[in-house]
Amino acid sequence: RAARPAQHEGAVARRLWVNPANKVCADCGAASPEWASVNLLVVICDACAGQHRSLGINVSKVRSLKMDSKVWTNPLIQMENVALRAVPVLWP
Ligand SMILES: [Zn+2]
Repeated sequence: RAARPAQHEGAVARRLWVNPANKVCADCGAASPEWASVNLLVVICDACAGQHRSLGINVSKVRSLKMDSKVWTNPLIQMENVALRAVPVLWP
């Protein structure tokens, strides 16, 4: 089977990064985070994704913006964007 076109890779990340709040990790402020918790509705970096995973799936459901493209339905992407506008971001 043919591989997905390369331009599909990262499409979810690009759509979330449209929101400036999603351009940095919600936990540590690292730039261009490529992971997200789909129940906490935060975008997080590689290192913080590992920490979220260690908390367990019932605390935080971590998904990759680049590899788990199937979980990223339009409603979920909208929820991530809207939630992060509504929630105040604590800047370091
Ligand atoms: Zn982080």
